[in-house]
Amino acid sequence: MAKAKFNVPTFREYPIIPELKPDVMKSDGPFISYPQHQEALNYPGELVDNWEEKAIEKMGDMLNKYRGFRVFMDSCVKCGACTDKCHYLIGTTDPKNMPVARQDLLRQVYRRYFTFAGKFFPKLVGAKELTKDVLDDWYNYYHQCSQCRRCSVFCPYGIDTAEISMAAREIMDSVGLGQKYCNEIIGKVFKIGNNLGLPEPALRDTLEGLEEDIEYDTGVKVRVPLDEEGADILLVTPSADFFAEPHIDGLMGYAKVFHAAGVSWTVSSYASEAANFGMFIGSYENMRRVSLRIREAAQQLGVKRIVFGECGHAWRVAYSFLNTLAGPFDFLDPNYPVPQHILEFTYGMIQEGKLTIDKSRNDEYVVTFHDSCNVARGSGMGGIPGGQFIIPREVIKAVCNNFYDMSPDTIHDRTYCCGGGGGLLTDDLMELRVKGALPRMEALKDVVDNYGVTHMAAICAICKSQFTKVLPYYGFGMDKILSVHQLVSNAVILEGQTD
Ligand code: SF4
Ligand code: SF4
Repeated sequence: MAKAKFNVPTFREYPIIPELKPDVMKSDGPFISYPQHQEALNYPGELVDNWEEKAIEKMGDMLNKYRGFRVFMDSCVKCGACTDKCHYLIGTTDPKNMPVARQDLLRQVYRRYFTFAGKFFPKLVGAKELTKDVLDDWYNYYHQCSQCRRCSVFCPYGIDTAEISMAAREIMDSVGLGQKYCNEIIGKVFKIGNNLGLPEPALRDTLEGLEEDIEYDTGVKVRVPLDEEGADILLVTPSADFFAEPHIDGLMGYAKVFHAAGVSWTVSSYASEAANFGMFIGSYENMRRVSLRIREAAQQLGVKRIVFGECGHAWRVAYSFLNTLAGPFDFLDPNYPVPQHILEFTYGMIQEGKLTIDKSRNDEYVVTFHDSCNVARGSGMGGIPGGQFIIPREVIKAVCNNFYDMSPDTIHDRTYCCGGGGGLLTDDLMELRVKGALPRMEALKDVVDNYGVTHMAAICAICKSQFTKVLPYYGFGMDKILSVHQLVSNAVILEGQTD
C-alpha cells in the first residue's frame, strides 16, 4: 500500500481532547465538480457571477421552506457540549471541525443578512459578510462533515449539524460550486442506474458469476436473478455489493437466505443502486429523482415487496423518506413493511426457525459490530425501539459463537462514523478519511487487545469500503472488515448442500 503523505494520528492513551491547530485542514476540500456534472443535476456549471446575491437568496428560500433550518440557526447557546464529539475534530485537531464552529460558518452569514442585530451591529453578534474567503471555508469544512449526526446526540437543543451541512452544500450547488465525487455519481445513477455506471450486460455477467460461485461452494443452484418480472421481492442494494469485497460476500448471503426462505426475488438493472447521494448534497429534488427509479422498477417488474440490502444512508433515505418522496406504494402487498431491510427479513427467518444454521462455521472469527451512523441515528428496524441496534447483533449472535461489543461510548446512538460517510468516500479526501477514523480504530483496538476480536462486521457499503482502505493505516489488515450477511452466508446450510 502507498505510504501516506500525511501523519497518521497515533492511538491516545486516554480519549482526551487534542491540542487544537487552527486552520490545519483549511485547504483540504474535495475536488470541485466539472460543469457537465453540475448541469446533469440542473445546477449552474460553474460559480455564477453574482454568486453572493444568489447564495443569500437561496439561503432565504431555505429558511422559509425548512423550519428546522431556521431553528438550528437561532437556537445554539454555545454550551460547548458538542465541541469534542466529532471524529474529524479528534482526528484533525482543526477547531473549525468542532460541530458548533462548523455550524457557525453558516450561522454568522445568517445573522448578517437575516437578523436585525446582525444587520445593524454585526460585530456585536459575530455576524459576517459572505465573502470568497467565507465561501471557501464553507466548501472545505462542509465537506469535512460526514453528516453522521453524532454531535446532535449530545446537543441539549438537538441541533443537527448534518442538516446544516446538507443545507450549505445545497446552497453551494445552487450557485455552481458542487463536489465532483457526489455530483458525478448522481449523474451516473440518472444515466445508467447505479453509482458505478455498470450497464445491464455487465451486471448480468456479474450476477451469473455469483451463481456459479455459490454452486461451486455449496453444490446448490442458488439464483441471483436480474429483471425477473413477477418476482415477489425487488432487492435494492448498493452497487458495491456487485463487485467489492467484503460487500459481494454479503450479497451471496442475501441470495442464500432468499433461497432458503423459498421466495422469488430479483435485482433491477434500472434501479440497481440503493445509495442515494441526493441526501449528501442536501437536495430533496435529486433524492426524489433517484427514489422514483425504485418505484418505477417495482411497478415494471410487478413485485409485491421491496427489500433493501446493507447500506447505511440508503436505509435512512428508504426508512425516513421513501414513502414521502416516491409513494404511495399501494401497489405492493400491504402485509409487509415498505420498505423492508434485509436484516429484518433474515431476523424474521431466524425467529421462525426457517434457516438451518451451523454457527461453528464462523468459529475462526471473534466478531465485533460497527453501528453505521445513518442506521443508528437516522432510522429504525423491526418496528421496535432500538431495533436498529438489537436486530444486527441478534443476527450476528445467531450465526457466530464469538461476539463482543466495543466500548459503550462508541456504539448504538453514540457510534463513531467510519470517517468516509456523507459523500466523503473519495481518494481526494484520504487524509481526512484516515484522520476521521481514529476514534473508531481506537475502540476496535481496545476489543482486539482485551477480547481477541479478529473481525469487525458492518451493514453499510460505505463503512465497508472506508475500513478496507483505512484499517492498514492503523496497523490492521484490510480484510478485518466483514459484511453481516457474509457471516450469515457462512453459517446457513442449504437443503442439498454438499460442503
Ligand atoms: S454531523 Fe458528524 S461529522 Fe458533522 S460535525 Fe457532527 S459529528 Fe462531525
Ligand atoms: S451542543 Fe448545541 S447548543 Fe451547545 S454549542 Fe453545540 S450546537 Fe450549540
